Amino acid sequence: MVKINKDYLNLQGSYLFSEIAKKVNAYAQANPDKEIIRLGIGDVTRPLPPAVISSLHSAVDEMGRAETFRGYAPDLGYEFLRNAIAENDFIKRGCNIAADEIFVSDGAKSDSGNIQEIFGKDNVVAVCDPVYPVYVDTNVMAGRSGKYDCEKGGFEKIVYMPCTSENGFAPEFPKTVPDLIYLCFPNNPTGATIEKDVLQEWVDYANKNGSVIIYDAAYEAYISDQNVPHSIYECEGARECAIELHSFSKNAGFTGLRLGYTVIPKDLVREGVKLHSLWARRHGTKYNGAPYIVQRAGEAVYSKAGQAEIKETINYYMRNAAYILDGLKKAGYTVSGGVNAPYIWLKTPEGLTSWEFFDRLLTKANVVGTPGVGFGAHGEGYFRLTAFGNYEATVKAVDRIVKL
Ligand SMILES: *Cc1c(COP(=O)(O)O)cnc(C)c1O
Repeated sequence: MVKINKDYLNLQGSYLFSEIAKKVNAYAQANPDKEIIRLGIGDVTRPLPPAVISSLHSAVDEMGRAETFRGYAPDLGYEFLRNAIAENDFIKRGCNIAADEIFVSDGAKSDSGNIQEIFGKDNVVAVCDPVYPVYVDTNVMAGRSGKYDCEKGGFEKIVYMPCTSENGFAPEFPKTVPDLIYLCFPNNPTGATIEKDVLQEWVDYANKNGSVIIYDAAYEAYISDQNVPHSIYECEGARECAIELHSFSKNAGFTGLRLGYTVIPKDLVREGVKLHSLWARRHGTKYNGAPYIVQRAGEAVYSKAGQAEIKETINYYMRNAAYILDGLKKAGYTVSGGVNAPYIWLKTPEGLTSWEFFDRLLTKANVVGTPGVGFGAHGEGYFRLTAFGNYEATVKAVDRIVKL
């Protein structure tokens, strides 16, 4: 008889977004006259940039003609896209990354979940707490987590690095030296960033200990401060210890179109093996490439028009972020994030739990946000609002919260 993968049984129910939906639906049904504003979503709302749409159209037409039709894409991505990525995201910033160190994919969620496959089962994994749940759950599925410990509010074998107001939402080196370290800056959910000299300390730490950093740069395009690095490869020695994940979702609105990429420098070697070779093998065996038309759309993001258009959309979201940040500060809330990231992280007032504050916001202001505890034990007492909504609705929501 077949045996199932029992590691899956260690997963904790992902109650967060279903619980939110349940509460919101119940409230909406009981109060049909109330206008509910959602500032909890982690999805973009603005349409794709015109340069991307135009590129999609012409790529679709190419697929309809025998002379320009394309079948399977190259495993690791089309040259035109990998060259545009290398040039714009790395060379221009002074990072030494070559096109053949870039692996094009359907997004950073799958890459951040799949990347652990090239590492042994007995590696110790460290994550920030609060955290983007994919890093944890995929390591649970792979059998690296041990059992869930209710008292600890986390898995036995996972090393949690608390990110709270006490440390400016930046992780500290853990007591146990981990093998795999997941970092995400600008951060989801806290909106926090770390400066280049701090990231450099992590790179030095990883190189000293033989660890590998998996650096999620999904929100890189939201950075406005000069001292905040856009890529870990701005740090000395990162080619020897870091893998970087990128997405076209948050910078260019590709959440429904799907495109991302992973960088593995050829200098990243562990136990005498290039991680680049392992990931290339994994990609070649399990993946048949992102669609041609989507890779053309990705290329258009780097065009002059594309760059101007995505900037405009990012500015739109960041105007929301500024309004939320400013309004809540004036109302006496303790808030952070929202400057180099589309997320605002606030401390719940009067010592309310994350869920108590959720209920208060829903019933008193008809605004939906995300309870911080849903991202980890150290998210308790915090709450996430996102800047991905419509401006007018965001203004209305903030004005209601301020009047509470
Ligand atoms: C949204 C997000 C991603 C991007 O996911 P895609 O699969 O590319 O849409 C990656 N990491 C974090 C932390 C995110 O919030």
